Amino acid sequence: MPPLPANFDLTAAFEALAREFYPGHRLAYRVEWSRRMNRSAGLCYFRRKVVRLSWKYHAVFPQEIPNTLKHELIHAAGVLGHGRRFRAEAKRLGCDVHAKPMPRRPFRYVYACPSCGNEVRTRKRVDFSCGRCARRWDPKFRLYLKSELQGVVSVEA
Ligand SMILES: [Zn+2]
Ligand SMILES: [Zn+2]
Repeated sequence: MPPLPANFDLTAAFEALAREFYPGHRLAYRVEWSRRMNRSAGLCYFRRKVVRLSWKYHAVFPQEIPNTLKHELIHAAGVLGHGRRFRAEAKRLGCDVHAKPMPRRPFRYVYACPSCGNEVRTRKRVDFSCGRCARRWDPKFRLYLKSELQGVVSVEA
């Protein structure tokens, strides 16, 4: 995966979009990555004149960077919320009103039932018995760790 652009490049891209779609507005924003943001693709801090983009989101969807920049640009230009005015501007700029579902942490472990072979994927280590073979904990059907996955990113709605 190619590295994501630096904050400096994001800011330059944002400025270019601002000149294109809001000529005459003075939208002096700084754009920067947030490593921790995991509930939205981006956020516009209107008073602080800062736009933050989620690193986690764009590491999975790098092609969405221009889309997110346009979305945040509309907020930066003073359109708060996602009402009718926002939707009209989104159409004009050619961006989405809602981001894709946020990527979740990848599944890491594959457990299997020693009796029926049922497989269960988890994000952390667990000590369960098979839900198909037993309604409650039963050591006879204790799941065993079958394999560990690496670098598989799942996206769930
Ligand atoms: Zn928004
Ligand atoms: Zn089973």
